[in-house]
Amino acid sequence: MKFLYKILLWTIITLAIALGLSGYFFVNQVFETALDRAVDQALGDSNILQFALETAALNVPTKYDVLQDIAVQEISANLERSSQGSGRLLRVSDEERKTLYASDGFTEDESLLESIADDTVIWQILQQEDSYYIHTGIVVNTMDRNLYLETMENVTRVFDERSAGFSVYRQMTLVMLVSSSVIMFLICTVLTQPIRLLTRATKRMAAGDYDYRARQISNDELGQLTQHFNSMANALEDTIGELRGEIRAREDFIGAFAHELKTPLTSIIGYADLLRSRKLDEEKHFLSSNYIYTEGKRLENMSFRLLDIIVTKREQIDPQPVEADIFFRYLKDMFAGNTEQELYTIYDPGTVYAEVNLLKSVLLNLVDNAFKASSQVGVVEVTGWNTERGYAFQVKDFGVGIPEEELQRVTEAFYMVDKSRSRSRNGAGLGLALCVEILRLHRSELFIESAVGEGTCISFEIPKKQLVEENGGNEEEQ
Ligand code: ATP
Ligand code: MG
Repeated sequence: MKFLYKILLWTIITLAIALGLSGYFFVNQVFETALDRAVDQALGDSNILQFALETAALNVPTKYDVLQDIAVQEISANLERSSQGSGRLLRVSDEERKTLYASDGFTEDESLLESIADDTVIWQILQQEDSYYIHTGIVVNTMDRNLYLETMENVTRVFDERSAGFSVYRQMTLVMLVSSSVIMFLICTVLTQPIRLLTRATKRMAAGDYDYRARQISNDELGQLTQHFNSMANALEDTIGELRGEIRAREDFIGAFAHELKTPLTSIIGYADLLRSRKLDEEKHFLSSNYIYTEGKRLENMSFRLLDIIVTKREQIDPQPVEADIFFRYLKDMFAGNTEQELYTIYDPGTVYAEVNLLKSVLLNLVDNAFKASSQVGVVEVTGWNTERGYAFQVKDFGVGIPEEELQRVTEAFYMVDKSRSRSRNGAGLGLALCVEILRLHRSELFIESAVGEGTCISFEIPKKQLVEENGGNEEEQ
């Protein structure tokens, strides 16, 4: 059942109970008051009749019971005549409670008569066919006898009024229920409008329409719910966007990876086929096998780099204080055999809070790139200095440079500005992607400045250990 109908149904039930009960008590209260008044009237009349009977019987001789009985009958008949039109009936009985006089239509019921004890008026409500009476009874002391006087006052009107009251109230309740149901239906329709709008929004979103938002039409709790729902939908849309971006990036990655695999493999297969199908002279044989060897090496290099990136993505590091000197000496040793190109190192002594091997790998990659970008006789400068936050490195070359529009993309896996140039130098386009991952673990990032034909300057700053921890803590809190 719809929420709207539930509210409506319960409102009608509550209203029906409230109206029914209040009507019943109201009409009954009016009836009770009218009946009390009628009873008072009947009791008063009974006392007056008792007095009238006693007064009228004063002159009746007390010697003969028969005469007395006749006198009582006459007096009673007179009393009844005098009150004709009031609808009052009376019955007078003797000591044995035998009827001396009874009006036409007086009840045969003698239960009240049996209960009369003294001159206190007793009464009961009596129903005779469709009529209601107040039946009273009292003792009359006259002519040295105890007679019993009973009256019956017709109060059918009071009961009829009650029935009429109930009937009017029933009709009124019905009319009010119908009209209030219509009004409540309209009110509930307006009040539940935000719920309908929210339901529509959830359906649209479930069907994939993620940018659909529920319209907020009130500022109450339902309005707030709509607001929160929309905020949640925004967050959801952002997350979905991010996930889609990630999926796209992965697809690009796999595409690039497949392509990078295909190129060397095609060459390897081609040269291997040449070697096995033809007898080549010594020089061609050497060139072919050398090609297979270098392309194989490139594949091996690529697979190691990929492995490094994957491992780095999952790894948690434990930065240790390391003398900056260690990194510069390492670079010097690594490129000592490079006679044509020169590596200059200028650095301040200081402490770097890092994972030694990972940071060595970053510097090696950057210097390697710098040499690859430089001409045969090139110079690369590696600088190191202390900063407020930690220790900074900079690798500068005077090589080919990177075009501005490519700057954003060089850190993507498999991205190479000049593919043939990079491949000829065993490049796979993974070095900078690996550097980014390693620096991310150290809560650092690469800053690349470059000008085509002038050279490239890549720098990064490794924060102090304390800062690393603080940042990590904040990130977790968020
Ligand atoms: P790998 O490092 O995997 O052996 P790679 O050096 O080609 O291969 P990256 O180190 O990721 O890959 O560099 C990506 C690309 O960015 C390079 O192919 C090159 O085009 C460009 N690049 C990187 N460093 C420099 C630089 N110092 N000067 C000019 N271009 C650069
Ligand atoms: Mg590289």
